[in-house]
Amino acid sequence: MPSYRIPSDHRVVESLRRVLSTRQMVDSQRKLKQLVEKDLKGDDKFRVGEPRLRILAIESGLVNLEIRCRDTPVMRSLIMCPVCGNRLRKVRNMTVFGGTVTLGYRCERCKYWTGLKRRVPTRYIFTRRS
Ligand SMILES: [Zn+2]
Repeated sequence: MPSYRIPSDHRVVESLRRVLSTRQMVDSQRKLKQLVEKDLKGDDKFRVGEPRLRILAIESGLVNLEIRCRDTPVMRSLIMCPVCGNRLRKVRNMTVFGGTVTLGYRCERCKYWTGLKRRVPTRYIFTRRS
């Protein structure tokens, strides 16, 4: 039975650096995962979960992340960023009556944003930051 090891954060980031040194852009999260796992493979096989890899890529500062989303009719308040786990900021607007109204949410770290109708991420494009 094949067994997999979980690489440390440091090893994943080093691997990302190598993968991105040979290509400018990786146009899906699954592809990035495959490239990193292939890069890490030696005597042992490694496994990196896609959400973990995405967050490490964002935190490493090595990539610019483009987030493609699909609109949904779901209206619900959001607290955490679905992309990177950061706390979201409310986007508000003043009303003519002097109060504020929430228009949506945005993330300061990864630039995800949504209106009150939820935008659900469907694809991530990683581009090497120059
Ligand atoms: Zn975020």
